[in-house]
Amino acid sequence: MECPCGSGSTLETCCMPLLKGEQNPTTAEALMRSRYTAYVLANAKYLIETTHPSARHLYSKKSILQWASENQWMRLEIVSASALNVVFRAYFKDPSGQEQQHYENSTFARLGDKLYYVSGIFEE
Ligand SMILES: [Zn+2]
Repeated sequence: MECPCGSGSTLETCCMPLLKGEQNPTTAEALMRSRYTAYVLANAKYLIETTHPSARHLYSKKSILQWASENQWMRLEIVSASALNVVFRAYFKDPSGQEQQHYENSTFARLGDKLYYVSGIFEE
């Protein structure tokens, strides 16, 4: 199976080792890609674990699961990426079948030797 993040690699060699906790993402882009894949696979645990501890209270497993599973995720497009910042578009179909895109400028932070998602600014 090709990785949902669109890297061109297989899921097993791309995002799955990150989702399983066997590897840590070494770049913000890799973390962003794996979080997109976690949405596709409705893996709320990974999404919460990769959110910075200071921001975790803003997210609930239930709302993540609902958002992840009610939409049909089509593809991810990385617009730009730097050490602690990723701008991306995620294309999906909403519950009514309407195509939507989620355009986000997201910020990451390092805590110890791990990277975490901190917050995102959503743009139309
Ligand atoms: Zn991937």
